[in-house]
Amino acid sequence: MTQAHIAHYINGAVANGSSTRTQPVYNPATGAVTGNVSLANVADVNAAVAAAQKAFPAWADTPPLRRARVMFKFLELINQNKDKLAHMITAEHGKVFTDAQGEVSRGIDIVEFATGIPQLLKGDYTEQVSTGIDNWTMRQPLGVVAGITPFNFPVMVPAWMFPVAIAAGNTFVLKPSPIDPTPALFMAELLKQAGLPDGVFNVVQGDKEAVDALLVHPDVKAVSFVGSTPIANYIYETGAHHGKRVQALGGAKNHMVVMPDADIDQVVDALIGAAYGSAGERCMAISVAVLVGDVADKVIPKLIERTKSLQVLDGENLAAEMGPIVTDVARQRIKGYIDAGVAEGAQLLVDGREFAGAKAGKGCDNGFWLGGTLFDHVTTDMKIYKEEIFGPVLSCVRVPDFAKAVQIINDHEFGNGVSCFTRDGNVAREFARHIQVGMVGINVPIPVPMAWHGFGGWKKSLFGDMHAYGEEGVRFYTKQKSVMQRWPESIGKGAEFVMPTSK
Ligand code: NAD
Repeated sequence: MTQAHIAHYINGAVANGSSTRTQPVYNPATGAVTGNVSLANVADVNAAVAAAQKAFPAWADTPPLRRARVMFKFLELINQNKDKLAHMITAEHGKVFTDAQGEVSRGIDIVEFATGIPQLLKGDYTEQVSTGIDNWTMRQPLGVVAGITPFNFPVMVPAWMFPVAIAAGNTFVLKPSPIDPTPALFMAELLKQAGLPDGVFNVVQGDKEAVDALLVHPDVKAVSFVGSTPIANYIYETGAHHGKRVQALGGAKNHMVVMPDADIDQVVDALIGAAYGSAGERCMAISVAVLVGDVADKVIPKLIERTKSLQVLDGENLAAEMGPIVTDVARQRIKGYIDAGVAEGAQLLVDGREFAGAKAGKGCDNGFWLGGTLFDHVTTDMKIYKEEIFGPVLSCVRVPDFAKAVQIINDHEFGNGVSCFTRDGNVAREFARHIQVGMVGINVPIPVPMAWHGFGGWKKSLFGDMHAYGEEGVRFYTKQKSVMQRWPESIGKGAEFVMPTSK
């Protein structure tokens, strides 16, 4: 099989850069190396930032309506190429094709949102704040901004960032995950076809070396990061130390509370889809089912049956419900967690470690496969409860009542997403009000907010003040300026030494 060389995209063209370091890119379904991605050095990052810095003044000066028109054209192109992008995702990430289509669609939502930028950038104006004086505020772009993104959504997560940043008049340097680097390059080509001027959107492939170069670069004014919590923390501290605006979204441990009055079939469908969809490699995946009162006895037998019958297949097979794990390293880490759960006394009901790749399809023997795994009687002191596993492992925790369910969730260090299944409106309302988590679902297992609402967790799931995309995204990528004007008639009043007040 020919192996693609996956390079950078700088100043409107593919660029090889000067670094000779590379990393293999795999098809997780087969385990085959399909490409080699360049890993940028400091000089490569500097070249991308320089291109973005050069492009900034003209782009910032372009009327928002014209910037929006580029976004409209990009929207048309990305819609035309939706399936092509989805196949690229499946080839390097492994998630099933229909799920990859869903990922692209959710990215497109943000592009649609960004086409409304003239309205979003509209300022405030107050006439006559004092006699003969008007005051208005406007929002202006920051300059060069960077996005550092994880492997698990190679299209959607970059799309949380660049459409809003670019439409607001910034120029952008994207550092995607080196695990699935191809879709970013394709999006760069589509942006160019849409008429985006060279240098406005750049891609540097790479690892820590590239990230560190972005974090200390004086021309990078803001950094958006999505990834694991330790790295999010590092990005936040280092970026802030170097004077940058930073939003750093981290890891998660999402609970779904099941009340005794919930519809059991709905609950089982929701848990199976939310725990094993995308092999649990979603920051909004449900990894803990909190089963209240006697509901466990009704839910668990059905969960066992459904976990055992999951269609774990090559993601290109349209019958697939779950694909492979992204890398062998990730698979070994997840297996380690399953071992730890057994050692700590959780009851292993379905063991995904036994799954053989040959069952997933032709050529899959050496892929990074794991089946769905189900634990019962997990307790809050166990490692599999406390830490993010980021794989197809669902832990069931039994609690006596609603108050205990809320308490364990509020005590957890992560606060990304959460869900409650109930038929009682008051329980649902109390849950939404008191739960210490940023995104809440009521009878919705994965409550990823729509493009205009903004995405972000609480506690160790987000470092920074503002959520991604939506109006918070617009605020993150712009700074407010306040202008006060007076056009005095030429009547000399003399100097004023007292703080001006409204007259
Ligand atoms: P990761 O933290 O390993 O990598 C994220 C990015 O940081 C990548 O671009 C990577 O190249 C870079 N990076 C990795 N190590 C680094 C280091 N030492 N120094 C500087 N940069 C480094 O995350 P991942 O494995 O790609 O993605 C999975 C994680 O992302 C999970 O923890 C998941 O919960 C989280 N995630 C969170 C959200 C959210 O919105 N909160 C969304 C998606 C994924």
